[in-house]
Amino acid sequence: MAAVAQRCPRCHEGPLFTHSALNLTKFADMPEACPVCGQAYEPEPGFYWGAMYISFAFSTGIMLVVGFAVYFLLNDPATWVYIVSVAVASLLLTPLSLRYSRTLMLYWFGGVHYDPSRARTIRS
Ligand SMILES: [Zn+2]
Repeated sequence: MAAVAQRCPRCHEGPLFTHSALNLTKFADMPEACPVCGQAYEPEPGFYWGAMYISFAFSTGIMLVVGFAVYFLLNDPATWVYIVSVAVASLLLTPLSLRYSRTLMLYWFGGVHYDPSRARTIRS
């Protein structure tokens, strides 16, 4: 799926981000437009503010999963163990969470539809 691979919503080929998720200073950098089909990646100024809400949902999910994992795997340890585990997991997953919240924002609310004729390669 193109959203999972963080590709352009119109041609499903151009990358949405210019650098790797592991690049700590540039993981959020996006090109202004798709290098393959020219689709603008920011439909309107401030478009990605809405991605914060998707990001909140990801954070909540991460907290719940980590919280339950700590509870069951470590047999309900002291409170600070929960706090440290959730903080570390949230921090490590920040690049992924941010990138996927922007990707979903563009796919769900960007008003862009998949157009196979925009792709470089013709698929049947
Ligand atoms: Zn494209």
